[in-house]
Amino acid sequence: MSHQTTLEFNNAMYKGSISLNTGLFIDGQWVDPVEPDSIYVINPATGKKVASVSLGSSKDVDLAVKAAQKACKTSWGLKCPGTQRGKLLARLADLMERDADQFTALEALDAGMPFQFAKAANVGSSIQTLRYFAGWSDKIQGKSIETNETKLAYTRREPYGVVGGITPWNVPLGMLCWKVAPALATGNCIVLKPSEMTPLSALKFASLVSEAGFPPGVVNVVNGYGTTVGQAISEHMDIAKVSFTGSTLVGRKILEASAKTNLKVVTLELGGKSPTIVFDDCNLEQTVKWAAMAIFVNMGQSCVAGSRIFVQEGIYPQFMEKFTAMANGLGQATGDPFAPTTQHGPQASKAQYDRIMNYIASGKADGATLHAGGERHGTEGYFIQPTIFTDCKAEMKIVKEEIFGPVAAILKFKTEEEVIEAANATTYGLSACIFSENISRALRVAHAIESGSTFVNSAQLIDPAIPFGGYKASGIGREQGEYALETYTQVKAVHVNIGLEI
Ligand code: NAD
Repeated sequence: MSHQTTLEFNNAMYKGSISLNTGLFIDGQWVDPVEPDSIYVINPATGKKVASVSLGSSKDVDLAVKAAQKACKTSWGLKCPGTQRGKLLARLADLMERDADQFTALEALDAGMPFQFAKAANVGSSIQTLRYFAGWSDKIQGKSIETNETKLAYTRREPYGVVGGITPWNVPLGMLCWKVAPALATGNCIVLKPSEMTPLSALKFASLVSEAGFPPGVVNVVNGYGTTVGQAISEHMDIAKVSFTGSTLVGRKILEASAKTNLKVVTLELGGKSPTIVFDDCNLEQTVKWAAMAIFVNMGQSCVAGSRIFVQEGIYPQFMEKFTAMANGLGQATGDPFAPTTQHGPQASKAQYDRIMNYIASGKADGATLHAGGERHGTEGYFIQPTIFTDCKAEMKIVKEEIFGPVAAILKFKTEEEVIEAANATTYGLSACIFSENISRALRVAHAIESGSTFVNSAQLIDPAIPFGGYKASGIGREQGEYALETYTQVKAVHVNIGLEI
């Protein structure tokens, strides 16, 4: 019998208690780990413990895979027609909408996301993702292919069977739903490992999976460390595909694990060092707001964060004046994620706080000018002021490496050709933002930038219908949109002889 915890909230955004089962969710049951272990969940706004949840091991992954295999054979895939799979996903989305405030409170507590942001951008978009893929569930189709008069050939899009999902801490619920929704819509069963740092929303999610009426074993949640549970998923011989979102470093390990075991299909959504390019002819008022959102939203802990801001020299002084005011304004709106006025919360963990402060120190040491922020905010929790560095050079660490924090590196440029070359001078290729009122220039540059997503005169507006993924070291494969269906199915060609004799 696994444990329960009740979290009490009494603040302006959420009042009430949330009961969570803190065990592992395997085969539709809440269970204790085979080898008992647990981890504390820390509130990053205070640094204090708020709950303790079970931690699994490879033994629990084995049990979850067995449960998922059984579900694949008996109650999911074609045993559960697409219309029914879609109905269950839509019902899960409805339940999440009913409990949206609870999910939001859990994400604000666990990851430090400002409540308003967590509700719209994380919980709201998770619900949208489930509804979007619910709609695809009964539209997974093959093709018929005519080659000659004696052959009928057709293709089937078959699920892999058991797939694994490994997710990060920056947008816990959103990243989980990006994996669950297309996996289930296409008839796979899934073993999920949320980040050990932010497990709460996954526990709540699992309880709604039961309530929605999914057959046992279709969704399994095994909390645990990356080096134990995550590695067990990536090495498992009976998991045919793994979808991973996280750092490029760990992405390489997942690929290696696949190469050394069963060559499972691997989808990787990794890091970025995305450029924001501001041309002289942009709409300045709008550009400054989007550019600030691109880097500072979710305290910079966004894979598509516009962390290198290239500003054309003609508009540089005006841009900097307004952009600095935006950053300082966010600094004023820093605080408790549950306060209605908060727009900037804490970094998600002490480790992340330390990492970012080290990058800020390296920026100063490398000769960049600390133009705004750069300090801890307050005396408790892991808050960092929105930070701007100017006089940045391509070879500096703060320009080359993903910081995953509220740190903008500003670089001045003269020409379109020069900025394209500089923006592409990175190992990453996840996203880019381009600001110009000259549509020909904006599209020309959008096409020249090596990135999986490019936003023209906007930022961060990811949508379940639009494919998402990286070029270069930012990833392999695509999530979201129709493209995600391809990554969760394998194609079988069936050749039928309709008259050839030998
Ligand atoms: P991380 O790579 O440290 O961890 C991600 C997940 O992998 C966690 O669940 C972790 O426990 C697990 N893990 C760690 N070591 C593992 C191993 N050896 N084998 C298997 N699993 C292992 O990343 P993070 O710090 O949680 O998240 C931040 C990173 O995620 C950033 O680089 C960010 O850019 C990236 N990210 C990318 C996207 C995207 O869609 N491209 C979205 C969000 C975050």
